[in-house]
Amino acid sequence: MTLPLSRPQYDAIVVGSGPNGLAAAITFAQARRSVLVVEGQDTIGGGTRSQQLTLPGFTHDVCSAVHPMAVASPFFRELPLDKHGLAWIQPSVPVAHPLDDGSAAVLDRSLDDTSANLGEDGPRYKRIIAPLVSDWPHIHRLLLGMTRVPRHPLAAALFGLRGFRSASSFAHSNFRGERARALFAGLAAHAVLPLEQVPTAAFGLVFAITAHVAGWPIPRGGSQKIADALASYLRSLGGDIITGQMVQSLNELPPARAVLCDVTPRQLLRIAGARLPEPYRRKLESYRYGPGVCKVDWALGAPIPWMAEACRRAGTVHVGGTFDEIAAAERAPWQGQPAERPFVLLAQPTLFDSTRAPEGKHIAWAYCHVPNDSNFNAADRIEQQIERFAPGFRGRILKRSVLLASDLEARNPNLVGGDINGGSAELSQLFTRPTWRLYRTPSRGLYLCSASTPPGGGVHGICGYMAARAALRDCF
Ligand SMILES: Cc1cc2nc3c(=O)[nH]c(=O)nc-3n(C[C@H](O)[C@H](O)[C@H](O)COP(=O)(O)OP(=O)(O)OC[C@H]3O[C@@H](n4cnc5c(N)ncnc54)[C@H](O)[C@@H]3O)c2cc1C
Repeated sequence: MTLPLSRPQYDAIVVGSGPNGLAAAITFAQARRSVLVVEGQDTIGGGTRSQQLTLPGFTHDVCSAVHPMAVASPFFRELPLDKHGLAWIQPSVPVAHPLDDGSAAVLDRSLDDTSANLGEDGPRYKRIIAPLVSDWPHIHRLLLGMTRVPRHPLAAALFGLRGFRSASSFAHSNFRGERARALFAGLAAHAVLPLEQVPTAAFGLVFAITAHVAGWPIPRGGSQKIADALASYLRSLGGDIITGQMVQSLNELPPARAVLCDVTPRQLLRIAGARLPEPYRRKLESYRYGPGVCKVDWALGAPIPWMAEACRRAGTVHVGGTFDEIAAAERAPWQGQPAERPFVLLAQPTLFDSTRAPEGKHIAWAYCHVPNDSNFNAADRIEQQIERFAPGFRGRILKRSVLLASDLEARNPNLVGGDINGGSAELSQLFTRPTWRLYRTPSRGLYLCSASTPPGGGVHGICGYMAARAALRDCF
């Protein structure tokens, strides 16, 4: 590997420029340590990349599109990313969930408006969520993996009481009507687990709370702007980045006191295997990946013609109907089958950001969960689900791009079999991932800093920040 070195030696080298890799590098640079990021692809950003996937003038997000975790992240909130080109747009409605009667359940920024929309279950929703929203400043660092010590044990216990159960038991015991149950199913399905599994309720609650405390924003210009802002800030602190250098073995890297890998266990075994003792290797080999996704992007001649008015004001639309339908759709990939009627997570950025499509034209982004490494093309089923709640949608498609679960890994080796969260979030690997050592490995100076460490998937940078903190403590 030829490294255009600005220094003879770096204090730390980060392999991979996803949001966690860049967060790790920033943490080193803030501590006045020299740091180099080595990215395998020709562009930086990992899961925060934007490209013209369909037609000229249409800017699509290849992976992440909507960012509640980024604005809720205590780490990102401290960074001056606005001074480096990042502008958040808050859609009028964070999440809408269309139903077959032509209406939609709505997760609004306002607790009162959300509660009013949920009919008979509205008061109950407010009674459960309002205390958790008030407690958020006391529990968010714990829930987002920035600390292991609950500083406010009562607030943490209340969240645990509510969230440490399955979404199915939570929704059926707390809500009587379909609107609230369906809305909760859509939020909990971000866990990419069967909704009968503990603790899917906690995922549903965290995603509901973030809508009230931080919103579900999109970056103006696309998610690439997040990576570009992180990289610009890193460079302003003296950090270096090189691209187009896929690291095949850590032996290719120049010497450094700490090496942090923004990769999942499978690639760590590949690039660092010889440095790792056999018992740790075995643990990494048994790390489990979850279902993959089939992703579709559209260039559209006009906005999606949703029947429900609220969906026409929402940044994110959860398309899948009732709780039971979504539960069935989320069980299917774990049983090795693509769902007949998939649960579709959809974003429609151009309703709020005109920079991403030619005048009067639009884009939409969607995916559904499919079995890991599946080459099943779910585009037709995804479009059928959208058409169900927005008749005439297909007539507005100018061009579509489909990414199969089995294709995603070739674009980014971290998307193993199309798993977008760096490994499944089942209980046994939610808090201790990929092993009880978390960011550390048995090899001195070698760390993991990807979404395969706590708190897991999503664009928040916390895995990178925590790994860098551990390395700074150990090595400097
Ligand atoms: C389709 C899809 C939709 C998503 N939607 C959302 C969303 O809306 N909101 C949200 O918050 N999250 C979303 N996510 C998840 C989010 O993108 C990831 O959780 C996040 O990007 C993980 O960050 P990371 O830094 O751990 O890894 P990544 O972002 O995957 O970055 C890893 C980087 O390391 C590089 N790399 C890997 N191996 C090597 C090597 N050997 N040498 C050099 N470089 C290497 C890769 O090329 C890549 O650039 C989505 C993901 C996908 C795929």
